[in-house]
Amino acid sequence: MKNKEQYDCNVPWAILFDPTAACNLRCTGCWAAEYGKGISLDYSTMQKIIRQGKQLGIYMYILSGGELTARKDEIIRLAEENDDCMFLSFTNATLIDKAFSSAIEQVGNFAFAISTEGYEEETDMRRSKGTYQKVMRAMDILQKHGIIFGLFSTCHHSKNTEVVGSEEWGDLMIKKGCKFGWYFTFGSLLSGIIASRVGTQ
Ligand code: SF4
Repeated sequence: MKNKEQYDCNVPWAILFDPTAACNLRCTGCWAAEYGKGISLDYSTMQKIIRQGKQLGIYMYILSGGELTARKDEIIRLAEENDDCMFLSFTNATLIDKAFSSAIEQVGNFAFAISTEGYEEETDMRRSKGTYQKVMRAMDILQKHGIIFGLFSTCHHSKNTEVVGSEEWGDLMIKKGCKFGWYFTFGSLLSGIIASRVGTQ
């Protein structure tokens, strides 16, 4: 609040940044699957973002991507070195294993928003075969380690809206340990619809 007065502008409560564009999956419609896989922020740049954020009074950091767990060691180091902050990362969860979960449990200031798009059929349709089973396994591991995670990032579109809007699916996610969730509109599909409508006018 002091900084808001001093600089005469709002100070956000959270900063979101993308540590890397690299990802082990190639989901339909995702920019990370299309663009350069090697684009990443170096560690000192990530530290600098957080240091400057803290000077403004920001202690919540949301990490998107790419797939952050492609840089497991650096994530853990970032959380350790900034134990006055809370981190939340979007993840496809396919690289989450017991060793990583133990390390995250130790640092204690990291939560995950796991991407899934419904049951096996809906998730694997966009994210590739076998992904759903890996997500279910990762949720079980995280739950066992007492790590907070959400379910959504779920992109809803014409092929999965009924499923991800159903009580049954919500109940399954709660049973799996999810504490919160986010729905996102599948942007490129929407853009396609808008483009086709504009094209017919
Ligand atoms: S897992 Fe996420 S970042 Fe990776 S290709 Fe899929 S949507 Fe994109």
